[in-house]
Amino acid sequence: MSKDAGMLICRSVPVFFALLHYYSFSCIIKAMKSIKKKKTVIAALAVLFAALFGLAVTKLIRVREARTNGILLCFDDYDEYNWSEYFDLLEKYDAHVTYFVIIEEPTDFCFEAIKRGHEIGYHSLAHTTVADMDGWDELYKYTIAPIETFREHGIELTTFAYPEGRGYPGSDEELLKYYKVIRGANELIFYGKDKLRHGFVDAVSIDNIHFENDEVYKAYIDRLLDNFNGNVGGVQIVFTHTIGDGGWCLGEERLEYLLSEAKKRGIKFYTFKELQDN
Ligand SMILES: [Zn+2]
Repeated sequence: MSKDAGMLICRSVPVFFALLHYYSFSCIIKAMKSIKKKKTVIAALAVLFAALFGLAVTKLIRVREARTNGILLCFDDYDEYNWSEYFDLLEKYDAHVTYFVIIEEPTDFCFEAIKRGHEIGYHSLAHTTVADMDGWDELYKYTIAPIETFREHGIELTTFAYPEGRGYPGSDEELLKYYKVIRGANELIFYGKDKLRHGFVDAVSIDNIHFENDEVYKAYIDRLLDNFNGNVGGVQIVFTHTIGDGGWCLGEERLEYLLSEAKKRGIKFYTFKELQDN
């Protein structure tokens, strides 16, 4: 089921129960007119009870979701073979991630990623740095025109990540006319989920190059997860590129450490789109 279909069902639930609610009261009033209709009264009360129970469950799910802390894990640039290899590992921990791509048009990888609950974000055509762009024409060509190309193939791009984490004065405002969220690459910040609906948000790299060894990496991840202690409904954003042993990669064991430690603490991995739509 697509995310949009899921949202539609989610939003239809209260309406459905409200209609049931209305229907049950109508039945009760009609039935009260005749004591011969006892069975109808009992049936209407059962429907009413089910409706109220459903409403309570829906409300509880929403409250619990709003209080859940989360991590937005991003993979930048593009390596469909490497990224595809780790779909199952992400699934093992119920993790949804965002792939920020630098391709001209969607590939089979993009459709498969979306089918598995991940998001395709954009990272500029051919990784062209926004800070080095010369005026509106270049900004349009490398960052905005691809939105229409992807849309023609059925993919809605709503999140953009600056290559090298850099824009130019005024580029946030221009890009936010077309994207809901723009992501940087400079700092780890603790956000409330409401800040992820629209605007600029920053992220930090967890590539291997920043950590001397596994112990240093694990200590960093532990501190990152500790930031959630005593907080509800918060999110932090981290990014890497591919999974592996290179400097600008994240080691496979390191990725699994983040996924498993977060899951143990009840921290969820969201896509940007999931938070924009709520
Ligand atoms: Zn990049």
